[in-house]
Amino acid sequence: MKRIYLDHAATTPVDPRVLEAILPYLGEHFANPSSIHSFGRENRKVIKDARAVIAGEIGAAEPSEIIFTGSGSESDNMALRGIAAAYRNRGNQIITSAIEHHAVYDTCKALEKEGFELTIVPVNREGIVNPDDLINALTNRTILVSIMHANNEVGTIQPIATIGKLLRERNILFHTDAVQTVGSIPVNVKELSVDLLSMSAHKFYGPKGVGALYVRKGVKLVPLIYGGGQEHNRRAGTENVAGIVGMAKALSLANSELEQNMTRISALRDYLIDNLLSGFEHVRLNGDRNRRLPGNVNFSFEFLEGESLLLNLDLKGIAASSGSACTSGSLEPSHVLLAMGICHEIAHGSLRLTLGKSTTKEEIDYLLEVLPEIVTKLRAMSPIYNSERKECSTCTLTR
Ligand SMILES: *Cc1c(COP(=O)(O)O)cnc(C)c1O
Repeated sequence: MKRIYLDHAATTPVDPRVLEAILPYLGEHFANPSSIHSFGRENRKVIKDARAVIAGEIGAAEPSEIIFTGSGSESDNMALRGIAAAYRNRGNQIITSAIEHHAVYDTCKALEKEGFELTIVPVNREGIVNPDDLINALTNRTILVSIMHANNEVGTIQPIATIGKLLRERNILFHTDAVQTVGSIPVNVKELSVDLLSMSAHKFYGPKGVGALYVRKGVKLVPLIYGGGQEHNRRAGTENVAGIVGMAKALSLANSELEQNMTRISALRDYLIDNLLSGFEHVRLNGDRNRRLPGNVNFSFEFLEGESLLLNLDLKGIAASSGSACTSGSLEPSHVLLAMGICHEIAHGSLRLTLGKSTTKEEIDYLLEVLPEIVTKLRAMSPIYNSERKECSTCTLTR
């Protein structure tokens, strides 16, 4: 049977060139980078080089602005908690958006329980934050704004550079969760005017279990993990040398091949979107038609359950996702789709297909070939489709 992976927003396979770079550090180059002996010093140098590579790839001024972490989630937690604790004397308000990944959203909610004032700005129908709403939400108590660069479910790209400029003028710290954009589209911390930026290696063909947080020089951060003096006393724990080497290699490869991958993948994405919109009835595209990640396609099939679609595609060897990987398995519809004003029924019918650098046109054609029979079969079994089939008045999205 065919095996077609269309879930690159959840994770990506390790690039063989990255794997090759990693292997020595799982084998003979195993030393603890904090050790004084030459074995240790060699690995200390390797981490130093990887830090410089990553700093360079995202346009950071200095390598010391990069802190290695254990995941994108940890980077998000570290940014929010680290700033909240360090700047508590300045104020207690944190502002975020309604469509953040749970690593940001749930951390903000936890901080709210601990006494911080949380303001959540809305998004429009396409899932985009209006910078004016954000500026209007600022008070003299605001210590941090956190808005994701691109959304993991619907792929919409936020106006981070515009927001960053407005916040820099007002001297407000700004964090962006760039886990979906680093390695997929150009990301430069200077052009975006961000103070903190999260990334994760396994989203750009690097290994799992390693991420990084960019923290602009001069920005204070209280650590999340105490212990040894690693990462300039900002994140204790013996470094994941192999992971760090893999992340640096993966990011330099991703950026050197960025243009060609963006062009090819977004053309395939548009081909899929056009065919879905023209080939099916009662189907809606979620998220902005153009301001979206090169590989992201998110659809709602009205009168259908996203989960049933996903399971039926799985039977055909196609890996997709309904909502986000983190929310699938729960019966709650995605908070992202609900924040975009999409009603519960339609949010339940959503399906995310995320393309990657190995995705081919043949694979998309196979998907387009098997999808009609699945949709027809499921609709034949759907009581709502066969009885009322009335248009939902609360969510009239672009088609
Ligand atoms: C995947 C993802 C994360 C979490 O990264 P992990 O390394 O899996 O913890 C955070 N934010 C966004 C937008 C993501 O897509």
